[in-house]
Amino acid sequence: VRLCRFDDDRVGVVQGDVIRDVSSILGRLPSAPHPAPWGDPLIARLQRMRAAVESLANRSRMRPIDAVRLLSPVARPSKIIGVPGNYHAHAREAEQDAAVRQYAAASGRSIEEQGLFLKASTAIVGPSEGVSIKFPNRRTDHEVELSVVIGRQGVDIPADRALEHVAGYAIGLDMVVRGPEDRSLRKSLDTYAVLGPWLATPDEVGDPGSLDFELAVNGVVRQRGSTRDMILDVPRLIAWASTFYTLFPGDVIMTGTCEGVGPVVPGDRMSARFERVGEMRVDVRAWAPPESGG
Ligand code: MN
Repeated sequence: VRLCRFDDDRVGVVQGDVIRDVSSILGRLPSAPHPAPWGDPLIARLQRMRAAVESLANRSRMRPIDAVRLLSPVARPSKIIGVPGNYHAHAREAEQDAAVRQYAAASGRSIEEQGLFLKASTAIVGPSEGVSIKFPNRRTDHEVELSVVIGRQGVDIPADRALEHVAGYAIGLDMVVRGPEDRSLRKSLDTYAVLGPWLATPDEVGDPGSLDFELAVNGVVRQRGSTRDMILDVPRLIAWASTFYTLFPGDVIMTGTCEGVGPVVPGDRMSARFERVGEMRVDVRAWAPPESGG
């Protein structure tokens, strides 16, 4: 299933070029206490509710996918986890480019030595919302990344059980302002975590370690890679992250980028594609306050 969120917080199933509106499924979720527990209630129940979602999809109205605004498939992740230098060629590129090196702090250190990092949950947007450039005099770079959406809560998850905790996959754009400040500051600006175009469940995607992907800016390919070249693969990343943090349904792991990162400016259009997940277009704009609802 390809599950999307669109327009005014509606939920849809993507079938080819159309979206089937399955928003009525939200009526089956339990009402949340105060405070709401961590974790996305729909994603937490997706496996159990899947048959109902699919049967709803087959009798609900169709919308052409080009006629809707695609939002992030996860509205309120409790956290967005980033991975530094998970592709050798990008780690080398980072060491050679002074502007990137500042951020990467790679200097020959392994991923395990560098550790993971967090992006603010409030940075998340969907492809149709686009990226807003808040500091036009500084360099903002794109990083296209396979993004894992957690489906089941867990801590200290063994790697050989890790994929059981995956709700699905999406394309992530880990946007960053270059500069001397802490990475978590520069990667957490509003709109600097793009997730989309939808959540593709594991049966759609198969092995997350064999996906080709690319990102183009204004039609020119900048990044082209394969998840085969990841240093730490998806199961090991989930296991490792869960030694530090409890992972909740809806949490996002952006698994690192390949070589070819580069700057974008307002007016640019990024196109990102991941084999067996999908493709999305994301416009870069001058800064404007984010829309309510993210
Ligand atoms: Mn990244």
